[in-house]
Amino acid sequence: MKFKKTLLWLRNDLRLSDNPALDFACQNSQEIYVIFIQDEVNHRQLGQASKLWLHHSLQNLDKNLKNSLNFFNGDSQKILNKIVKEYDIDCITWNRCYEPSRIDQDSKVKKHFKEHNLNVESFNASLLWEPWTILKSDKNPYKVFTHYYRNGCLKAVEPRFPLAKPDKINAKKFDDSLKISELKLLPKINWHHKIEKLWKIGEAHAQEKLEKFVSDPIHNYKEGRNYPSQKKVSQLSAHLHFGEISPNQVWHYSLTHFGHKISDKNLDCFLSELGWREFSNYLLYHFPKIVNKNFQPRFDNFPWQKNSKLLKAWQKGQTGYPIVDAGMRELWQTGYMHNRVRMIVGSFLVKNLLLSWKEGEEWFWDCLIDADMASNCASWQWVAGSGADAAPYFRIFNPILQGEKFDPDGEYTRFYVPELKNLSNKFLFAPWLASSEALKQANLKLGEDYPLPIVNLEKSRDMAMHAFKSLPKMSDEDKLHN
Ligand SMILES: Cc1cc2nc3c(=O)[nH]c(=O)nc-3n(C[C@H](O)[C@H](O)[C@H](O)COP(=O)(O)OP(=O)(O)OC[C@H]3O[C@@H](n4cnc5c(N)ncnc54)[C@H](O)[C@@H]3O)c2cc1C
Repeated sequence: MKFKKTLLWLRNDLRLSDNPALDFACQNSQEIYVIFIQDEVNHRQLGQASKLWLHHSLQNLDKNLKNSLNFFNGDSQKILNKIVKEYDIDCITWNRCYEPSRIDQDSKVKKHFKEHNLNVESFNASLLWEPWTILKSDKNPYKVFTHYYRNGCLKAVEPRFPLAKPDKINAKKFDDSLKISELKLLPKINWHHKIEKLWKIGEAHAQEKLEKFVSDPIHNYKEGRNYPSQKKVSQLSAHLHFGEISPNQVWHYSLTHFGHKISDKNLDCFLSELGWREFSNYLLYHFPKIVNKNFQPRFDNFPWQKNSKLLKAWQKGQTGYPIVDAGMRELWQTGYMHNRVRMIVGSFLVKNLLLSWKEGEEWFWDCLIDADMASNCASWQWVAGSGADAAPYFRIFNPILQGEKFDPDGEYTRFYVPELKNLSNKFLFAPWLASSEALKQANLKLGEDYPLPIVNLEKSRDMAMHAFKSLPKMSDEDKLHN
């Protein structure tokens, strides 16, 4: 063994299989100290739903490590320094993260320990391709997804094959580790029990979910993924975010099932969604400003409104547009929202309510169990039209048509908006058009049981288009880089 005591610093890699840093530690060190630091000093505070997931994920991992996971709270650098000194650690290892504050911190930690002659090793455990390895022929990063994925990723080296769980993990506990409860990740107010019951958290469940998805739903993924009432998506996003499963495990398991060929249209579509996850991280790495600034600076002049009443109605699923309200209530009740509906509610917020994508990003950050800085910011900017390779601003989702098309039987909408359960399909997505007779039959009083629309679709759409037209055109330089 090369090292006596290795410190394994976990972040979003909460698993034992396909964990390169853990694998390295097991192969090279007599003893391993596995540590998780809740660091709100240097990094964006997690949302409530993420904290809930994290609590259970850590608890699960601790169990798998025979209760030897160490918990700390505070400034990572200070805590690591103290531990390294106190416990005579001779190696530190971790898997890389790609959020700007993490990159910044990791480089400082690496520099510091190298200067103090400690062995430092970092690995890639959460992306299929390192962002700096996929570049255009002129060495600039891609800005268009299809070019990035098809010309860059798929022609690059195949993603690493997953590693097995180490046979033996000699993990030890520090005397001064906190108890998991002392991280205070669980909410004080009891809103979370329903969500806890809905999700099975942890590595084994993530693997099970992948296997179940690949055994059947994936075969109708391309079409089925558009319909929120159908169970045709993997729901792996939170597991992927917290690293209970790696993208390499998902990639190779699915490919193997299809005989190692991407030619099947459903497999191709599913893998390309993992590609979107990569692209989001890639954008965040190359353009870290996307966290809080428009990728296209011309959107800085957009006349977003500030209107807390409209924002609250959107957040609470009380807009009077049933598919939007169903989505926002799904988010609130489950911590998750189907991708199609995320696009609909996003478009509604920025293009009908004229509220900034940042308001949406923050609410999603707080409520999503899969809240992920890269995917959330990139997706919100995609919806708003301000992002790289974004949906054009003038493409405004019509929530009535979207509901009719993607929830044709109204199953999803009626489930989350039960006030409308007796309304016929004809008026389900636009109840204000129902005759008083139809409303009476549905036992529905609009404005009392369910709100009237908070904005007029046509008028708000015109306002959005007018605002958009006032923006400067995309610069030649931006077009060139696209
Ligand atoms: C406004 C908005 C905000 C979003 N915020 C997040 C977020 O915070 N975290 C997050 O993981 N995803 C986010 N997404 C992307 C997407 O909606 C979710 O990843 C997806 O719905 C998760 O469900 P699933 O696991 O069943 O996906 P599947 O359809 O089964 O896809 C498999 C995996 O691919 C990845 N993926 C799929 N679609 C996308 C996408 N468009 N962008 C990036 N990765 C994708 C996810 O990791 C997902 O688990 C957002 C999308 C929108 C429109």
